[in-house]
Amino acid sequence: MLELREVGPRDGLQNEERALPPETRAELVRRLASVGLRRIEAASFVSPERVPQMAEAEEVVAGLERREGVIHAGLALNERGYERLRDTDLGEVSFAVAATETFSQRNAGASVDAALGDAERIAGRARRDGIRVSLTVSVAFGCPFEGAVDPDRIVEIAERLLGLEPVEIVLADTIGVATPTEVRRLLERVKGLGVPVGGHFHNTRNTGYANAYAALEAGAALLDASVGGLGGCPFAPRATGNIATEDLVYLLEGEGVETGIDLDALIAISRWLEELLGKELEGYLYRVGVS
Ligand code: ZN
Repeated sequence: MLELREVGPRDGLQNEERALPPETRAELVRRLASVGLRRIEAASFVSPERVPQMAEAEEVVAGLERREGVIHAGLALNERGYERLRDTDLGEVSFAVAATETFSQRNAGASVDAALGDAERIAGRARRDGIRVSLTVSVAFGCPFEGAVDPDRIVEIAERLLGLEPVEIVLADTIGVATPTEVRRLLERVKGLGVPVGGHFHNTRNTGYANAYAALEAGAALLDASVGGLGGCPFAPRATGNIATEDLVYLLEGEGVETGIDLDALIAISRWLEELLGKELEGYLYRVGVS
């Protein structure tokens, strides 16, 4: 059974120029949950000086609606972020380890080894606190600073992460450079380690949906997507965002994969966001509708 994880309120909004106030971000998450999305990354517990778009994460969480069967998650970049998350009532923490030294230093201010140590400590604490852990390997298919990434290195990192018993290990094409065959191969290898595997794709080079489909064929348990295709990448000027949730849902439903999502209602959220952000979004479906 494929799960979709909505990352628009986090990966999407953190890369948008216009910052939305916490009550609007909470409303976005509530609307997303109401259309049938079951896993939503709602906030990032990062310093507001570094990422002003994610300021007041606690306020966002306080404005969420508890719903049967819906898991709200937050991203932590370090133990301090984890402690902030733990003090809210979020049920899941996401943590990412970058696959390259340069990206890890620039993005998290730590070496890959140090990030793996953080992952270990956070996962251990989360287990004791009864919080689910989802782990991501970012820049798994290419790095803006170091270029191509050796798939063996990703498998090595995944082997270390799987001992932490995450809900899944998500392989992220953070800068949108992957193409389907490498996606299929890498997901199959990591899945072969005996852990549910997920895919996180940006549509920077227009291969995001083909990559998501390749991940599906490789047996992915989870796909990330962002409503309207919100987002971008601070390291890649003019880069487009995540694949759009509604475009992905249209594709999946057409291929016989049931998502349980009310597509028309999801499209309405993108139209609302377009007004809020004052710009056309990257997604295609919301502009034309389902039929
Ligand atoms: Zn991303």
